[in-house]
Amino acid sequence: MDDYDPNAMPVEKARRFIQQFLAPVTETERVPIRESLGRVVAGDIASPLDVPNYDNSAMDGYAFQYTDDLSINATTPLNIIGTAFAGTPFSGMVNRGECVRIMTGAMMPKGTDTVVMQEKVSLKEALNQPSSICFTDIPKPRANVRYTGEDLKQGQIVFSNGHMMRPADLGLVASLGIESINIYRKLKVAIFSTGDELVSLGTPLKTGQVYDSNRYTLHGMLTRMGVELIDLGAIPDDPKLLESTLLVAASQADVVITSGGVSVGEADYMKQLLTQHGQVMFWKLAMKPGRPLAYGKVGHAHYFGLPGNPVAVMVTFYQFVREATLRLMGQATPAPLPTFQVQCTQAIRKLPGRTEFQRGILFADTDGLWKVKPTGAQGSALLSSMSMANCFIVLDVSVGNLDAGACVQVQVMDGIV
Ligand code: AMP
Ligand code: MG
Repeated sequence: MDDYDPNAMPVEKARRFIQQFLAPVTETERVPIRESLGRVVAGDIASPLDVPNYDNSAMDGYAFQYTDDLSINATTPLNIIGTAFAGTPFSGMVNRGECVRIMTGAMMPKGTDTVVMQEKVSLKEALNQPSSICFTDIPKPRANVRYTGEDLKQGQIVFSNGHMMRPADLGLVASLGIESINIYRKLKVAIFSTGDELVSLGTPLKTGQVYDSNRYTLHGMLTRMGVELIDLGAIPDDPKLLESTLLVAASQADVVITSGGVSVGEADYMKQLLTQHGQVMFWKLAMKPGRPLAYGKVGHAHYFGLPGNPVAVMVTFYQFVREATLRLMGQATPAPLPTFQVQCTQAIRKLPGRTEFQRGILFADTDGLWKVKPTGAQGSALLSSMSMANCFIVLDVSVGNLDAGACVQVQVMDGIV
């Protein structure tokens, strides 16, 4: 613990510190593949089949046996002896000098190894029926055929333990004939807000009160991540109530997330409670917004004490809670938020000394390039800045004021959490 300077913990260091405690859930369940969307695969999934399962045509055309003398005999016609449809194979044998009309996906007939596209032949007719073809363009040997096992070989690992299922993955396991798969159980996450000033929706505000918005942003972010949410409400700054709520949360959930009460104000009781009931670190992070952050264990539950300010809640969630939650859900290597450099069209004010996560709008400029602009005022209580934003402009510790046109790092959040 002594390694961690409590006065200014760098973001990366805090992230790495948290990582070492994250053991994923172990219980699994078997679900029909549709229900596996967004869930994490438990154990490896091997292909029970070769994909494709048989040699088949990649084109509408004519299947034949390629021979080396074709180029000399390009003008020699091949007699059409039948048709192969997807689902209705041609059952006969194709000999030299013969071909079969073949549709995309149809099984390659016996005696054939190459398909010529229908656009690359001239047709001769007999009795008003196509009877033979001549090449207008000679295909390469074995062209336009999808071979058995070309995509996946039987026994090949398709998805490894810890893979999160996406729409393409549902299709892929379906293409293998797999009806159900093993996934990790849903992670249970309990949340509650803290603060005497907080009022729940449906109650008129009195002077000095604010509506509890943090539980709603947390609800949104956690729901998108696919966890089972336990919402324990807004709890006043009363040590007894906070204590009982914390203990209920820790006994019911894998992860407990609170907002507010982790700084050093007079009514910030969470710190005392956590020291008493858990092993929790309290950090002043070298970042803006989101300076106070607590992380540790209360009983078996992982605990995240987020700041109270609404923007700081979301920023610390994206920077710390998101990745930790994905790991606890079983993901082996959670994909980081896409991060890249773009030009910022407006000047940016920033003091060196801490990492800033300013709210930005990535947009397609009139010159066709994607650029970013800040959302405007950057106060950590201004939730509207988060609503307008689709990315964070990440300004490193050493960076100071920037002129318009400077290149900045952005981290995309829109549509991800
Ligand atoms: P705290 O970290 O408890 O000192 O709170 C910092 C600021 O965030 C104060 O202005 C609080 O009123 C505000 N705040 C704390 N919790 C919430 C919440 N759940 N919803 C909206 N604002 C909050
Ligand atoms: Mg408070």
